[in-house]
Amino acid sequence: MAYAYDDQNIFAKILRGEVPNDTVLETDHSLAFRDIQPQAPTHVLVIPKGPYVCYDHFAQEASDAELLDYTRAVGEVCRMEGVAEGGFRMIANAGRDGVQEVPHLHVHILAGRNLGRMLQ
Ligand code: C5P
Repeated sequence: MAYAYDDQNIFAKILRGEVPNDTVLETDHSLAFRDIQPQAPTHVLVIPKGPYVCYDHFAQEASDAELLDYTRAVGEVCRMEGVAEGGFRMIANAGRDGVQEVPHLHVHILAGRNLGRMLQ
């Protein structure tokens, strides 16, 4: 599938500095910031800086440096937020059926309460 990136999406505006955000971590190729509508005591979004719609798009087109940086950034945020001991959940919604609201790849990191069972 070919993906078309909409550079007017809200995360593209955050990356261009047009919309403020509460940054947790910035690396060469990734940005992590707090979700404006947190669903748990810890709710951080991690995005690649490159123009990727979803994980599939990123996995196909990102460079090795971007892939490595992003993978490490997600882990670094988990360490910085101290979520490893209590546990956490990572979610990446994609597309229509995944009910992805913002069409720029983002991993949600949720922690700080019992998140309940997602899959039965
Ligand atoms: O995975 P999905 O696309 O549905 O999630 C988008 C997330 O982006 C929401 O949790 C929303 O609260 C968050 N958001 C944000 N800052 C914005 C706009 C949306 O943290 N300015």
